Amino acid sequence: MKPIINLILVLCININLFSQISFTNNDRQQRIIRDMKVLSHDTLMGRKSASKYEWKAGNYIINELNKLKSHQSNINFLPAYDTYRFAFTIKNYENNNKDTTADIIAYIDNNAPYTIIIGAHYDHVGYEIYDSTKGQYLIYNGADDNASGTVGLLELTRHLSNKFLTNYNYIICFWGSEEIGLYGSAYFCQKILPNINVPPIILYINYDMIGSLGYKKNILTIYGTATANNLKDIVPNYYDSVKINKLPTAFPFSDHTCFYANNIPYLYFTTGLPKTYHTIKDEINLINFNGILFTIKLTEHILSQLNPQELQFKKIKLHHYIHTGIALYFKS
Ligand SMILES: [Zn+2]
Repeated sequence: MKPIINLILVLCININLFSQISFTNNDRQQRIIRDMKVLSHDTLMGRKSASKYEWKAGNYIINELNKLKSHQSNINFLPAYDTYRFAFTIKNYENNNKDTTADIIAYIDNNAPYTIIIGAHYDHVGYEIYDSTKGQYLIYNGADDNASGTVGLLELTRHLSNKFLTNYNYIICFWGSEEIGLYGSAYFCQKILPNINVPPIILYINYDMIGSLGYKKNILTIYGTATANNLKDIVPNYYDSVKINKLPTAFPFSDHTCFYANNIPYLYFTTGLPKTYHTIKDEINLINFNGILFTIKLTEHILSQLNPQELQFKKIKLHHYIHTGIALYFKS
């Protein structure tokens, strides 16, 4: 029997290597659910910033990127680097330790004249010990904040790396340690962005909490529509039956902040702050998976409509405030 088992194994591996990824709505949603089940699971203990659990969540993301590579997708490391994981040490003001955190960054090179960065933070706020003798914990699984953005970005990455929307190159960023001070994106802007060897970056897209579509009304908010000329016109007022709430700019409380400070326009997608925000009730059972897929498809629609020539960065009134914010994060 053994040779037959070997043959079956070889066949399976080959099928796996060369099969195309399917992008039917159903298949996309199944992958989104699968990713969410892993990233919001109790075993990741709330993916605390700069913890071994954040690192473990990062392992899952890297594994998914490697799987894409084995499907001959157009996904790679950033030029001049040989890893997806960019680890660095931070001074953690919550516990006064020097802790290690990491960004997970990939590059989709379409030989295009312009580059777009898309990011989502994958950390969350961790857990509290309820009764350690009984092994009881209160775990903040952060399904909406921000496993939703992370799984959305993973699925968008699968699509973009399968030679869709090839008018741009894409830098895909999963940020670490957002919750304790936007460290991951600040590290990228400070250490990587100044020397990066890619065609001009024209836009940053941020996913932070995209899992609660419909918790109030059927509204998706997109911040940053005044950060470049014409962005407001490119973003539709409605998509399918969902109203798009277009807001000119956002407070510096997510990872768009340092990009704006570096004169890069941004669009920041979010379904808003539901009551479960930063509570142990932010769980998978409240996630609107259709809403995540909707957000991805809207992003793909907007990417198909962009005209880089018209995307002129625009300074707006809040700029000074945002700039002050980022200076704080850079202090350490
Ligand atoms: Zn968040």
